[in-house]
Amino acid sequence: MKPIKQRRTPGNRTVTHTKPKKTGHHECALCHGILHGTPRGTVVQIRKMKKSERKPTRPFGGQLCSKCTRDVMSYRAQLKGKTLTLLDVPISIRRYI
Ligand SMILES: [Zn+2]
Repeated sequence: MKPIKQRRTPGNRTVTHTKPKKTGHHECALCHGILHGTPRGTVVQIRKMKKSERKPTRPFGGQLCSKCTRDVMSYRAQLKGKTLTLLDVPISIRRYI
């Protein structure tokens, strides 16, 4: 649904002004915070952008926020160093490891 406004013109006509609806922010898959570095817009507008303008180029860019990415990388390093087992990792983070 588009936001609609009725406007009276100087010629005493009533015209309808419509604006396209704004799209939402991209969210982090774990904490649902707003993702920085990702543009807002329709699919058509985003497909017209360069690939580097669509999402950050770091691991999990456009999926996880920087804080959650840091947590995931920390768990990965601890699993590789065998200080943790997979059962010690929170179940929500396991799919990114
Ligand atoms: Zn997050």
